[in-house]
Amino acid sequence: MTPERYQKIMRVLGKRQPTLSVLMDEVNKPHNFSAILRTCDAVGVQTAHAVPPKSGEMPSFGSSAYEATSGSAHKWVRVQPHTDAVSAVRELQAQGVQVLATHLSQRSVDYRTPDYTRPTCVLLGAEKWGVSDAAAEAADGNIIIPMFGMVQSLNVSVAAATILFEAQRQRLSAGMYDTPQLAPDDLARIAFEWGYP
Ligand code: SAM
Repeated sequence: MTPERYQKIMRVLGKRQPTLSVLMDEVNKPHNFSAILRTCDAVGVQTAHAVPPKSGEMPSFGSSAYEATSGSAHKWVRVQPHTDAVSAVRELQAQGVQVLATHLSQRSVDYRTPDYTRPTCVLLGAEKWGVSDAAAEAADGNIIIPMFGMVQSLNVSVAAATILFEAQRQRLSAGMYDTPQLAPDDLARIAFEWGYP
């Protein structure tokens, strides 16, 4: 590995945000899944949680259909599979993570309202039916990107990017990109996995 490559890996890992993640609930179009991973990488999300779709023609994680849109992000963002959204939400909450479901409900707030400097996971729904009511209820909060057009919803990858860059904005203000957020052992392990001997 060249010194430049090593420096880039260390620079990227120095900005990773282990306390920020997404949970994709049956996002079934490979280009959406991959675009979300690409945004995760750009913002510093190290782990993306995903409930694979139960039906549809989605290829398995890691196939070339994903890799085409991700711009290689699938190599740099770990995907942790879960069997269902509600149990994934509960598991994250047990780790002290606030789960914010992108869902329109009585308790929805503008996506800019929550404090994203807290450990946070953004729950994103399937293209056809969105976040299930059960998962939205289990979440700590419901957030919505206000829309004023004729169409009722955004593409899921666009919604993910909008929210994750708000999280990035808040975390930049709070200085969370100025010092490494990964624990030293994790940083060393990932650097090794990414190719540093
Ligand atoms: N028919 C679905 C519904 O009623 O929820 C539409 C799902 S939308 C195409 C797919 C996903 O994109 C949603 O589950 C949510 O995660 C995200 N999304 C789309 N528009 C959004 C918005 N205005 N605010 C927050 N999330 C949004």
